[in-house]
Amino acid sequence: MTNSSGSSGDITGLGNDSKLEQTPVILIADDDPSIRLVLKHSMEQSGHHVIEAANGLEAVQAAIRQTPDLILMDAVMPVMDGFRATEEIKKISGCEETPILMATSLDDDQSIARAFDVGACDYITKPFNWSVLKHRTTRMLFAADAERQIRHLAYHDALTGLPNRMLFMDRIDQAISRAQRENGKFAILYIDIDHFKVINDSMGHAAGDQLLNIVSQRLTETLRKTDTIARLGGDEFTIIIEDLEEAESVVLVAKNILATLDKPVEIFEKEVHIGGSIGIALYPQDGENFGTLLKNSDTAMYKAKELGRQTFQFYEHEMSLKAMRRLDLENQIRVALKNEEFLVYYQPKVNLLSGQCQGMEALVRWQHPEKGLITPDEFIPIAEETGLIVQLDEWVMHTACQQFKKWEAAGYPVNNLSVNISARHFKEGGLLKHCKKLIEDIQILPGYIEIELTESALVDNYNSAKEILHEIHEMGVRIALDDFGTGYASMSYLKEFPFDTVKLDRSFVQGVPEDVEDTAIVIAMIQLAKALNLNMIAEGVETELQKQFLTDHGCVYGQGYLWSKPLAANEFERMFFS
Ligand code: C2E
Ligand code: CA
Ligand code: CA
Repeated sequence: MTNSSGSSGDITGLGNDSKLEQTPVILIADDDPSIRLVLKHSMEQSGHHVIEAANGLEAVQAAIRQTPDLILMDAVMPVMDGFRATEEIKKISGCEETPILMATSLDDDQSIARAFDVGACDYITKPFNWSVLKHRTTRMLFAADAERQIRHLAYHDALTGLPNRMLFMDRIDQAISRAQRENGKFAILYIDIDHFKVINDSMGHAAGDQLLNIVSQRLTETLRKTDTIARLGGDEFTIIIEDLEEAESVVLVAKNILATLDKPVEIFEKEVHIGGSIGIALYPQDGENFGTLLKNSDTAMYKAKELGRQTFQFYEHEMSLKAMRRLDLENQIRVALKNEEFLVYYQPKVNLLSGQCQGMEALVRWQHPEKGLITPDEFIPIAEETGLIVQLDEWVMHTACQQFKKWEAAGYPVNNLSVNISARHFKEGGLLKHCKKLIEDIQILPGYIEIELTESALVDNYNSAKEILHEIHEMGVRIALDDFGTGYASMSYLKEFPFDTVKLDRSFVQGVPEDVEDTAIVIAMIQLAKALNLNMIAEGVETELQKQFLTDHGCVYGQGYLWSKPLAANEFERMFFS
């Protein structure tokens, strides 16, 4: 049985937090004190909590103070009669669904009809048949409770018990009405849990569920009772913060949330680290309805993610401008694919000891008809977002393999070609099929091809990536882990995936030998690669000093401006094969 106290006016009739399992409250409104006394006694014996009112007005006032679970309403009372009181109570927020049993000595049809008209859900005639009264109240309470539970299920997330999207939408509508009335503002926070997918994929769904429950609990503890926390699905939580004096108070809330998510979480006796990214949209400046506010807080959340995890971002109108520019760029990429405006450049991979070119990495460029040569940083992110990257990567792979065959046929000493593969391939599939077809069509030895993947590509697609990569590896194609050291959970990935090579990220190489930390990391990583019997290529080698340091510590291969920038095929040929 439930009782919801305080007014909320939400569609569930449950208030901001449901109070299942509480003593039901019955309001008895009757001007006859002896009847009240007997009723009170009988109801209390059945385990109910009773509040009394001596007339209709008192009943209305009592219902405002505390939402009853059931009302027993005498029809004829002084000051305000039961019909009018019923009508008034139905208007009180939180009491819309409260069942009212009208007690009347008037058993004429007209009065009964009137009782139903004003919102009573049943009637009973006086003098009371006590046994009928008892059965009827029990049945009504039971029905009201069942209804409330159904409503609870429909409006709450089954896992965490938090409001779901539907209830969240309703709460936003309420917040908008209130803000309009009171000329106030409120904020929506969109929270995404970092690394949720890794935990879910690597530790199983039960662990994922447990993590979501912990997050839900931590959010609830961090926020005020009046703030609405909802789970929209997956690892996405949303929050409404009302009564905002100034935007700065949201900053404090966001910081508190990030701090609570930053604390380690224990799941199945294992300590894991999560974190969050938060996007914030404000009413009214960032949107005047649910859809716009939610969309804009989501956009801001993505921006926060881009800036690096564990941070928050306010929505800025500039972001929609940026979104439009992106759309424009997306169309241009489509056209460029059709018009073959892309080019493949090659950067040598060098043996540090001999200085010989051992192979090359294919890197895409865009020969834009107006803007000239564009580097991948400017278009790869959008190509990835839109899925166009799959087509682009396949084209690069095909073009580079054809070029490699030409070099091989010409007798140049080539034995290794790297191509970059985006995460999207694991979501959309087709990588395995494409590799097979490519090898058949071009008649290239699989062992010549090395595909490069970043940890982030694997993190988001753990299971599918693992399966696909093992199959590709079995075909003889080599696999490299790109940007090693910049991602998450590197150690376990080195064991789980069939890597042949790791590419030490430029950001570490840059610091050697001056930076103490970088230097320590580089040495440790070279040793780790050796211990795991993996090839290591140092990326972004720019100085003799760096080269010397790497050679001294046992790194065999390097890549970087020290030897050459990525070059067009004919230039590459001139530089390295003549
Ligand atoms: P990446 O795979 O880590 O490639 C190495 C990047 O470092 C290249 O940038 C290269 O030009 C640059 N680089 C090489 N040596 C040096 C150096 O000594 N100093 C400095 N400062 N930079 C150096 P680029 O060509 O602009 O490519 C950027 C990223 O775009 C690549 O990073 C790769 O993640 C992505 N990319 C490039 N081509 C493709 C492609 O065909 N498909 C996919 N999916 N991604 C690609
Ligand atoms: Ca690469
Ligand atoms: Ca790299």
